[in-house]
Amino acid sequence: HLTIQGVSKSFGQKEVLRDIQLNIAEGEFISILGPSGSGKSTLFHVIGGLLKPDQGSIFLHDQEITGKRGFISYMPQHHALFPWRTVLQNVLLGQELQGGKQDQQKAFDMIHKAGLAGYEHSLPDALSGGMKQRASFIRALLNPQPLILLDEPFSALDDFTRQDMQKWLQSVWMEYRRTILFITHNIEEALFLSDRIAILSTNPATVVKQFEVPFERPRTGNLVLSNEFLE
Ligand code: ATP
Ligand code: MG
Repeated sequence: HLTIQGVSKSFGQKEVLRDIQLNIAEGEFISILGPSGSGKSTLFHVIGGLLKPDQGSIFLHDQEITGKRGFISYMPQHHALFPWRTVLQNVLLGQELQGGKQDQQKAFDMIHKAGLAGYEHSLPDALSGGMKQRASFIRALLNPQPLILLDEPFSALDDFTRQDMQKWLQSVWMEYRRTILFITHNIEEALFLSDRIAILSTNPATVVKQFEVPFERPRTGNLVLSNEFLE
């Protein structure tokens, strides 16, 4: 499990995160919602050890990982494919860095499922924005780390592709039960995918509300929450 304990972060005079508390169980899928500019990506940078918080700590299975990298699989909001590596080489990067065996067959399979068949040996420049986003998403899934951070992974996709990717992510998650933290602006997407939803305020960001999603899995489209949850 992951514990985010009293995390605060300011950039100069601007207080972005204030006393963020979240406990995430092993195998849980949690979505984080909040206004643009509230500090969601900043929170991921802190969890991923890319940024040190001013106060607070991050624990993974009771081991403190504050400010340490290499414990999680992280898909940044703006895709970060290496331009000189092919799609296949990019998606295998997490496994390579972890020193594990590279599962090429699984990589091909995922590239195919993400609608990128035929692009295995292309460089990222040959891909559209949404295709790069999917390649970056596969790279995060193929990373063997048990904790995955996905920062708006489907924001650049059209509605049809987005729905395909949501269904695929749900099935991957149900099969492997890895812990996933998922940032989205889309409440329907969060209802479809997650066990729990946490909502951040802005200026500064704190967790203003969190609730369990009251739908059985596997889920299908068009989930609607009763008003009591949104009050
Ligand atoms: P969006 O939904 O638009 O992606 P967000 O919730 O992810 O927004 P962040 O990217 O975390 O928001 O930014 C939160 C605030 O922190 C913004 O005001 C941003 O300008 C500021 N900020 C983020 N990173 C830095 C930085 N490295 N230096 C200074 N300010 C920063
Ligand atoms: Mg962001």
